[in-house]
Amino acid sequence: MKLAIKEAWKYQLLTYPNPAVGATVVQNNQVLSVEAHKVSGSSHAEVLALKEAFLIKYPSSDLKNINDSKEIHEYLSQNHNGFFQDCEIYVTLEPCNHIGKTPACAMLLESIKIQKVYIGTIDPNENASGGYERLKNAKIDVEVDICKNDTDKLLYPFFKYQSGHFNFFKIAMREDKSITGGYITTQDSLNLVHNIRTKIDLMVIGGNTVRTDRPTLDSRFSILKKSSDILIYSSKNNFDKTIPLFKVPNRKVTISSSLDLIKNKHFVMIEGGYNLLSELINKIDYMMIFISHKIKSEKINSTKFIGFKKEYSYYLNEYDEVVFLKKIND
Ligand SMILES: [Zn+2]
Repeated sequence: MKLAIKEAWKYQLLTYPNPAVGATVVQNNQVLSVEAHKVSGSSHAEVLALKEAFLIKYPSSDLKNINDSKEIHEYLSQNHNGFFQDCEIYVTLEPCNHIGKTPACAMLLESIKIQKVYIGTIDPNENASGGYERLKNAKIDVEVDICKNDTDKLLYPFFKYQSGHFNFFKIAMREDKSITGGYITTQDSLNLVHNIRTKIDLMVIGGNTVRTDRPTLDSRFSILKKSSDILIYSSKNNFDKTIPLFKVPNRKVTISSSLDLIKNKHFVMIEGGYNLLSELINKIDYMMIFISHKIKSEKINSTKFIGFKKEYSYYLNEYDEVVFLKKIND
């Protein structure tokens, strides 16, 4: 389960409007595959993990050329040859039971007769839940609440935006907490941020940052290249319209001293520095901090965000650490 959780965090916020989910397939105490859901509309974590596991046993199977989720379901249902009867799967979230953009994972697990399913968190979403019952009714051994504390953490942003609104503050800093003076993190972090920007409904940025940095705030390093609408949070309207962010096509830019626009959006990313952070701290659900460890600093442990606690962190590469913080008591 820990491997599944670790894999799923790599796609946190990228799976919107779906949750971040990971899955691990094990046979005779040997890990065969670890996969995560990567983007909405594509295969769920369980499907990818089952496919990888099957390909370890049958590397030349036609399955290697099949990427469509529905086709993977069909292939595995018809050609499993009892392979999964001594396999166990660990899934961070209850396998889905509804047929949406992809067929239900619980039905696939039933048809391939998997030996056992370990579930982290039971899905409270009524449209997708029921997977546990389906597996139980099919006489498949199921255990729930495995590492639940950690699988719940993975789902917090999803539950927030399911309830209508989720926002997060993104900031990049060095070990010594400095945030000025050009690019801080490596290209890997920029790529991740640009991919997340294609998923959000609105980006909020402070007026001073726009004036000083003259940013573009587009998604040129992403796969989709879709640029989000922007709210420039400023009491003054006098912006130089040659600043690149105003020139990005298919984007609406609003300048306002009010944050009312945020309330109507499901998924909002606030990008900025310490001034904007301290001004908006009471309105923030979550934080995503990119810390560059390229230059070592003695001050590393002094990084504190009052009112927030660390949920998870991982290294994107040798230098860049991605840290997720959640508001305490939420
Ligand atoms: Zn599913």
